[in-house]
Amino acid sequence: MNVDVNLGSRSYRIVVAAGALATVGARLRELKVGSRTALVRDAAVARLYGKIVTSSLELAGFSVVPIEVPEGEAAKTLAVAQHCWNELIAAGLDRTSTVVALGGGAVGDVAGFAAATYMRGVNFVQIPTTVLAQVDASVGGKTAIDHPLAKNMIGAFYQPRLVVVDPAVAQTLPEREFRSGLAEIAKHGVVLEAEYFAEVERDVKPLMARELGVLERIIGGSCRLKAAVVERDEREAELRHVLNYGHTIGHALEAATKYERFTHGEAVSLGMVAEARLARRLGVADDETVSRQEKLLEALGLPVRAGAIDIEPVVGAMSRDKKAKDGRIPFVLAPRIGAFRLVYDVPMTEVRSVITSLGS
Ligand code: NAD
Repeated sequence: MNVDVNLGSRSYRIVVAAGALATVGARLRELKVGSRTALVRDAAVARLYGKIVTSSLELAGFSVVPIEVPEGEAAKTLAVAQHCWNELIAAGLDRTSTVVALGGGAVGDVAGFAAATYMRGVNFVQIPTTVLAQVDASVGGKTAIDHPLAKNMIGAFYQPRLVVVDPAVAQTLPEREFRSGLAEIAKHGVVLEAEYFAEVERDVKPLMARELGVLERIIGGSCRLKAAVVERDEREAELRHVLNYGHTIGHALEAATKYERFTHGEAVSLGMVAEARLARRLGVADDETVSRQEKLLEALGLPVRAGAIDIEPVVGAMSRDKKAKDGRIPFVLAPRIGAFRLVYDVPMTEVRSVITSLGS
């Protein structure tokens, strides 16, 4: 499946196909970029998929400079961005060259930031290898590193020239990492398209068994939905906030538990449960809309209960939300499956009670 992201001169294609890793070189050649590339990846992903991507690029006539970064969030630091810039300079990459990110969302974020800033911007290609990166992080052009005081604080909007999604790479993901990505898939269904939500409900079993055809269809569907939002609001003026469903409370849960207790997807799952309940409490959604979400998240192996929660750090983290406008936190609420509404001025007493309700 191909998904075209139409953004004028910044348009690009997302290719979603089993076996697509081996086609990266030929696809990049079609973009008529210069012959030098740098392949940013961590050691684990390099072991699994480095060779196939490097061979594909070399066969298509590109030189490939490997750049190693740490695994996971440790990659998103200024020091690692600096390391990338050092290697790009040492290898003589110029304005026609391409930075290729091969890995999860963390590698994509730091490599994208390096690509956006090196020589004020060189070609950038995303090859996401986690489900989360395939359906979320690699689509839309948000790049970032972390600041010691807050995640994703330093970054740039910088669209890739191409995204290559090979659903077969999901086979090697650890179970918890795989499930974590499914939360974003459920989110896309809840707020963007009822048919897609129903498709995921119907295909839960083969999806959880990582059947390739189903993975390709569901991951491709999510890319299509996210791309449509990005096309209408590239720089997160307002509409793109819809993608924040489950994240206002989810991010706060993650931050309040120091990113140790929950994976991102687990926190988003809990955030969706809480925000669904919030919609019901505010009279925006009915019981069925709430229970269908909880049922699907549970079926996807994601948590819908959190155990004991210390509420104050969660509320504190919410007040530092990057999406806050003039101190007001926007909530995305789903009045029904496949629809959303942005609501400012949600009473904090209601927010507190739905977060507390996650504990039971
Ligand atoms: P990650 O990038 O932090 O880590 C992934 C881990 O899985 C690494 O250890 C990696 O070596 C391993 N891995 C990757 N692919 C694998 C595979 N196919 N098989 C086996 N192991 C594999 O995790 P993530 O969940 O992909 O990304 C999270 C990051 O994405 C966060 O930093 C978050 O801020 C960012 N993010 C960015 C956006 C955006 O729009 N830019 C959106 C969502 C999340």
